[in-house]
Amino acid sequence: MRWTGWTIAAGLIVGAFGLNRVSAQMQAPAGAPTLYEGARLITGDGSAPIENSAFLVEGNRFIQIGRKGAIQLPAGAARIDLTGKTVIPALVDAHSHIGYMNNLTSGAQNYTRENILDHMRRFAYFGVGASQAMGSDFGEMPFALRDEILAGKYPDAARFLTAGRGLAPLSEISPDNMRHAAFPVTTVAGARASVQELVPRKVKLIKTWVDDRLGTVKPLAPELYRAIIDEAHRNNLRVAVHATGLQQAKELLRSNIDVFAHTISEVDAELIALFKQHPKTAVLSALSGPHREVYVPWLSPVHPLIAETVRPEQIARLQSRFPLRGDAFARSQESWDRLARGIVRLHAAGVPIGVGTDGGGQQGDQFIGWTMHAELENLVMAGISPAQALVAATRTAAEILGQDDLGMVAAGKSADFVVLDANPLENITNTRRISRVFLRGVEIDRAKLRAGF
Ligand SMILES: [Zn+2]
Repeated sequence: MRWTGWTIAAGLIVGAFGLNRVSAQMQAPAGAPTLYEGARLITGDGSAPIENSAFLVEGNRFIQIGRKGAIQLPAGAARIDLTGKTVIPALVDAHSHIGYMNNLTSGAQNYTRENILDHMRRFAYFGVGASQAMGSDFGEMPFALRDEILAGKYPDAARFLTAGRGLAPLSEISPDNMRHAAFPVTTVAGARASVQELVPRKVKLIKTWVDDRLGTVKPLAPELYRAIIDEAHRNNLRVAVHATGLQQAKELLRSNIDVFAHTISEVDAELIALFKQHPKTAVLSALSGPHREVYVPWLSPVHPLIAETVRPEQIARLQSRFPLRGDAFARSQESWDRLARGIVRLHAAGVPIGVGTDGGGQQGDQFIGWTMHAELENLVMAGISPAQALVAATRTAAEILGQDDLGMVAAGKSADFVVLDANPLENITNTRRISRVFLRGVEIDRAKLRAGF
C-alpha cells in the first residue's frame, strides 16, 4: 500500500515539482515510517472529520490515511499517539508580502535572505506550510531561496512561493512602496516582455495591479492587462490581480483573469454571472486587513501567540491605531459588512475562495503567521462554516497557487500538518491552540523558534 502511495507521490510531483521529487528521494530512506494514531483528522477536503484516525508518514509524504487499527504498522515504524488532539493540514497563505517588515520598520532596506527566512520560520511556527509572495520580490535571491527551501535546506521554514516582480502601471510605482519591485508596464510589447522575463524563473503566477486606489492613481489600461493575461496563458501561468472595484472586476473577468488577490468591494448579479462563465477564476479573501479597523479583540488582551512572536513596541503601535473611532469606525464597519456579504455570496455561487492574508505588507503591522488565523476567524464571522473556511485555507489555496502536493492530508501529499489541542470545527479560533507543527514529515522545534523571535 505504501509503495502505491509513493507511486502517486512521484506522479504528482513530476515536472512542476521536480525539486520536490529530489527531496522526497533524499529524505525517504532516512526517515523511518511513522504512524500517527488517535487524532480527530480534518483532511482539508471539507468532508466529515475522521475520528480516531491513523495516518502513515514516510520521508516527507503522507502514505496512507484511515481509521486507527486499519493501517498496518510497517517494519521499523515508529508510533505516535495523538489521542485527544485534532489534526489539520498545514495552512496555505495565498497572498502575502515577505521580507519587508522588521519590527517597527517596513521597506526594501529589510529585504534580505535572512529576513525572508525569519518570516518563513514565523509562518511555520503558526502552522502555515507555505506562503505566496505577491509581486513584491526582486533580484535573483528569492528564486534561489525558494529552491533551497523546497529542497529541504531549511527544515524549520515554510515553503516560500514567489511571483517574482509584479507588473504595475507607473502611477503605482514609488521608491517607498513595495511596487518599487514591479516591472513598469507602459506598452503591450513591454507587458509581454516582462511576463517573458519571469517564465524561466519558474513562477506559477504573475501579479499585477489594476486599481485606481479610490481615484488617486491611473490604473493599468485594459489593453495592457489583456496583454499580460494573454502572454501568461501562452506560458501556462496564471495571473493574480489586485483589483477591488466592481466594474474593473467585471472587465477583468471578461478578459479571462485567473485570481483576484482581494475580495471585490461589491458583488452584484452580473458579477456572479461572469464568474459562472469563468468557473476556474478564484478569489482570495484578504478580509482581516479591512476588518481589523473595527475588530481586533486579540490586541486587548494580547493573544499569547502574538506576545510570543511580536515585540511590545510593535503591538503598542497597532493598539494605538485600531479599532478606529467615531465616523471612521462607522464607515469601516459598513464596508466590512459589504465585503462579508460579498464573499459569502461568491462562495455560495461556487466561486473558488482561497485564503490570502496580504500579511507583511507595508501599510502595516499585519503580523506574519498570525494573519492566517485572523483570516479564518473573519471568514467564519462573514458567514462561511468553519469546515469550509478550513478548506479555503488549505486545499483551495493550494490549488489556486498550483501547489498540487500541499493543502491536504492525503496519500502522496507533502506531510505538512498541525496538531491542535482543540477542535476548530467547534470554534474556528481553536486553530490558534497549536500543539505541534510538522513540515515535510519532520516536527519543527517551536520552542527554539520562539526563542529566536
Ligand atoms: Zn498584497
